[in-house]
Amino acid sequence: MNLILLGGPGAGKGTQAKLIVSKYNIPQISTGDMLREAVAKQTELGKKAKEYMDRGELVPDEVVIGIVKERLAQPDCEKGFILDGFPRTLKQAEALDKILEELGKKIDAVINIAVPEDEIVKRIVNRRTCKKCGAVYHLIYNPPKEPGKCDKCGGELYQRDDDKEETVKERIRVYKAQTEPLIDYYSKKGLVYNVDGTKSIEGVFEEIKKILDKFA
Ligand SMILES: [Zn+2]
Repeated sequence: MNLILLGGPGAGKGTQAKLIVSKYNIPQISTGDMLREAVAKQTELGKKAKEYMDRGELVPDEVVIGIVKERLAQPDCEKGFILDGFPRTLKQAEALDKILEELGKKIDAVINIAVPEDEIVKRIVNRRTCKKCGAVYHLIYNPPKEPGKCDKCGGELYQRDDDKEETVKERIRVYKAQTEPLIDYYSKKGLVYNVDGTKSIEGVFEEIKKILDKFA
């Protein structure tokens, strides 16, 4: 079962990916983790990636694509995988198809966790993070016992710059601009399954399971 998981900022993609990993026993493959691993193992591509990362530059497509190919060829991907954060662009999607063809694999489903923009903003702008231990709270869904104070360590809670309204709106704009062409691309292949991301964590996972049980 070879999957791509899509979902904008605040859509709960990370949480659902973990649930899919434990239920279906397939690895989650995120670009960030892969890059860090390739750099740590000092593979040829890892060394190249490190040069860009050390300069604070984006790692170019050809390097990222090479690393994805190395990763997907590993034995733990035989029964399937979830791609998270890749592909991000149409060019990467086309490159992925080529890689998969060379490996004798194909994508079975693209799960798109959809949440309306105003709901995403509400989810993110109410997040508060502990300065000391990094614990994350939500003023509506998961408030701390004492306002402004971490339950775990007593540290001060603050709003990360990433969680401020203007930043969130900009992230949503960038995500949409990048992702819409991808959704078109995979829709034409009949692979896109939209999931209602406004439901509870369990509710969203129920929907995902209904889709994935066809492929398991
Ligand atoms: Zn804390």
